[in-house]
Amino acid sequence: MTMTVKKMNFKTETRQILDLVVHSLYSHKEIFLRELISNASDAIDKAHFLSLTDKEILDDKNPWKIKIKPDKEAGTLTICDNGIGMTKEDAIRELGTIAHSGTKEFLAAMRSKEVKENPELIGQFGVGFYSSFMVADKVTVISKKAGAKDTKGIKWESTADDSFTVEDVDKEEKGTEIILHLKEDEKKYLEEWEIRSVVKKYSDFIEHPIVMDIEREEEGKIDKSKKVKVKKEETLNARKAIWLKNKSDITESEYNEFYKHLSHDFSDPAKIVHYKAEGASEFTTLFYIPSIRPLDIFYKEYKIGLTLYAKRVKIIEYCEALIQPYLRFVKGVVDSSDLPLNVSREMLQNNREVEKIKNSITKKVLDTLGDMKKNEYDKYLKFYHEFGRVLKEGVHFDFSRRESIGELLLFPSTKTDKDSFRSIQDYIDGMKEGQEDIYYITGSSRDEVLKSPYLEAFNDKDYEVLIMLDDVDDIIMGQFEFKGKKFKSVIKGDITLDDSKKDEKEKAQKKYGKILKFIKERLEDDLKEVRLSGRLKDSPCCLVAEEGEMDPQMEKLLKSMGQNIPERKRILEINPSHPLFEAMNVIFEKDKKSEVLKNYADLLYDQALLLEGSKPKDCAAFAKAISKLMVENAQQN
Ligand code: ADP
Ligand code: MG
Repeated sequence: MTMTVKKMNFKTETRQILDLVVHSLYSHKEIFLRELISNASDAIDKAHFLSLTDKEILDDKNPWKIKIKPDKEAGTLTICDNGIGMTKEDAIRELGTIAHSGTKEFLAAMRSKEVKENPELIGQFGVGFYSSFMVADKVTVISKKAGAKDTKGIKWESTADDSFTVEDVDKEEKGTEIILHLKEDEKKYLEEWEIRSVVKKYSDFIEHPIVMDIEREEEGKIDKSKKVKVKKEETLNARKAIWLKNKSDITESEYNEFYKHLSHDFSDPAKIVHYKAEGASEFTTLFYIPSIRPLDIFYKEYKIGLTLYAKRVKIIEYCEALIQPYLRFVKGVVDSSDLPLNVSREMLQNNREVEKIKNSITKKVLDTLGDMKKNEYDKYLKFYHEFGRVLKEGVHFDFSRRESIGELLLFPSTKTDKDSFRSIQDYIDGMKEGQEDIYYITGSSRDEVLKSPYLEAFNDKDYEVLIMLDDVDDIIMGQFEFKGKKFKSVIKGDITLDDSKKDEKEKAQKKYGKILKFIKERLEDDLKEVRLSGRLKDSPCCLVAEEGEMDPQMEKLLKSMGQNIPERKRILEINPSHPLFEAMNVIFEKDKKSEVLKNYADLLYDQALLLEGSKPKDCAAFAKAISKLMVENAQQN
């Protein structure tokens, strides 16, 4: 049989990733070993899992293990496993492409300062394998798929340029060998102590043994005075199922190391939660609330879930069914005594046992956050800064817990100092006599929002307004009802703060009815309605949307994402107590078709656009009109 070597090009994104790994990641290079061990361990988990139902895959002669083989003469470091292995197609797909749809954002994040300074973050992106090229100029992968008895193995090889090769090779046992041809100045990874310390640091918790042949001098058996060299396989990792130990036997640093192993994060977690549930359902869980947001938490590819074990056997690495999506920052493990070992991902979706565990964990996370907010407020603020935007999604998606989640939310307001916040309860406690609703304003920064004309009447009446700066706020909070109180956007709908002013408003309506109609007719193409405003105090006018309509923040976001938003007409509100309208009215009474008035109407609309942070309809025409007014004014003086 002739063996053919097939040369293939990497996909563009893969090449870019490789380029980054080779040329810009310089610190913490040792994490390549963690990534390769983690892949080997995953491969063993998969094989182990299959072997529960397929006896062919079980091989009693070769217990599951990961073996590290340094070869000083060849200058290679090999990581072997007897896990699931890869077919040729697997290797081409898994090692040649990147399963990321948001590649552009992903590359941008990869190029960010954060990743450059902390390359250990790259494990989060599911490109761990490529980290081998930080230390190797050539990588050879030899693999054979478990269960594929009579077929050949495959060899994959690349020097991290544009291409890789694949070919058939003979391989007896199932599993994978990753052979790193180390770069000249990375040969230290062939030293026993270096390998030991990296394994200890990053992979101590891997359940499968990570072994290495260690050569020691021993006394000769016959002649004790003669030293002989013997090789012995030693296990380098402690292999503890830390979650099954007693809390009192685990140190904080052990807890933290396990977190780092699970999360690929490099900072300590904000909170550790470890408990055993007994009774209706029996399980143990150890989970963590991180202190730093992973870079990809808003990407579709972000892997949600806790690792699920059934009686100490790892069943599923990222089990989404165990965690609410709005708590997706939580990392950890669940070990259940009630689940069967052969449970599949699909079966878990509607499994009652899993549902119980999820409920218990959801409650515990929310309680933990509640305690943190009450007792460690500064720490909670930090957490909220990182994950508040994610947590908030729960108000929308977890109906039955929306109030408990609402208790955890914080907002700046028109009455808070910079960097301080209000909870919704604080807000309610400070509501004024006669105030029914919780008012909020959306925008892109606190400073900008505080200058908004939409707040004038609220400030005048000393009503507090919550400031919402996340793009999802309007959609989520606009529908929220907290303790019977509705949330109302100050930039949408009709606002009447003061019923006692009703008469005044009616009078003004009579007085200005005609001029409102005149403005409406002039601006028909742009506006749906022109009406008197209940929210303005000093500014002459503003633009508002109907209550149920989309928030301008959201509209901007969707537009920036390339979505087609149908143009819709808005409402121009004018301030009846502004002297401008009295003046306009006088002109109107004299000449119902006045050209000057038409110009004024156009200028009003442009001002309203400016006041909400948009551009005038026609900037050049606007500037011209203003100059004309200035000249006229100067001539009068
Ligand atoms: P991730 O582990 O997040 O999927 P990696 O870049 O580390 O990303 O690995 C890419 C893929 O290559 C893995 O998902 C797996 O399919 C395959 N792979 C890597 N190493 C092994 C191995 N030792 N045995 C079997 N498959 C492997
Ligand atoms: Mg990996």
